[in-house]
Amino acid sequence: EVTIRDLSKTFAINGETLTVLKGINLDISGGESIAIVGASGSGKTTLLRVLAGLEEPDDGGVLIDGAPVHGLGRDRSVIFQEPRLLPWLTVLGNVAFALEVQGVPAHEAKERARRYIRLVGLGEFESAWPRQLSGGMAQRVGIARALTVQPEILLLDEPLGALDAMTKITMQEELSRIWAEEEVTMVLVTHDLEEAIFLADRVLVLPKTKGAAIRLIDIDLPRPRDRNEARFVTFRQ
Ligand code: ATP
Repeated sequence: EVTIRDLSKTFAINGETLTVLKGINLDISGGESIAIVGASGSGKTTLLRVLAGLEEPDDGGVLIDGAPVHGLGRDRSVIFQEPRLLPWLTVLGNVAFALEVQGVPAHEAKERARRYIRLVGLGEFESAWPRQLSGGMAQRVGIARALTVQPEILLLDEPLGALDAMTKITMQEELSRIWAEEEVTMVLVTHDLEEAIFLADRVLVLPKTKGAAIRLIDIDLPRPRDRNEARFVTFRQ
């Protein structure tokens, strides 16, 4: 469970103070899927980075199961737009390496890595090199790698932003399946409203006017999602 209380974040730019987030309160239940949308520069990435522990807030803070967040803990994984795979390691090598740095012995790391590679549908590509992969495949490896820590919270910053429309749709279905199978809490920053509605239980809209409270839109949708199903959206201020 994630609790955000009175969160504020400013940046100092050329001697001026830029308030990006102010007075944000939000509760995310375990296993919930949340999307953050909003205009460019509204602070979506900043909010995600504060949640990840990569950015310290000026005021207020983030609690995960009651414990304050400082730094990126093992209970969280972050997925960015570019997966930045290690070019000198194969698909299996990249995912296994993520386990090895956590202290998992090499042989066991490979076995466990295979499970995640299969989970993202790349079972037949474990020996491929990063340069041989399409953007979507590379991002799948990034997702497999992020899952190795068995995170309670998966933080995704525009994970499908660099992909073509068709690949995006396939990957959205895949993320939805992974979210359900791995029982993770998902926080997704996206520019794509349709993607937000498809993947999230709740969509948070960050207003462009800095310092206003977050507006919450609750989306009431049954799972599993069907893209062709009618959607009922209720707004709550
Ligand atoms: P986009 O949709 O374009 O990715 P965003 O909503 O994710 O935007 P942020 O990246 O969170 O927005 O940035 C919010 C504001 O904070 C911007 O004005 C940005 O210039 C500023 N900002 C973000 N990070 C820093 C930093 N490290 N130093 C100074 N200013 C920053």
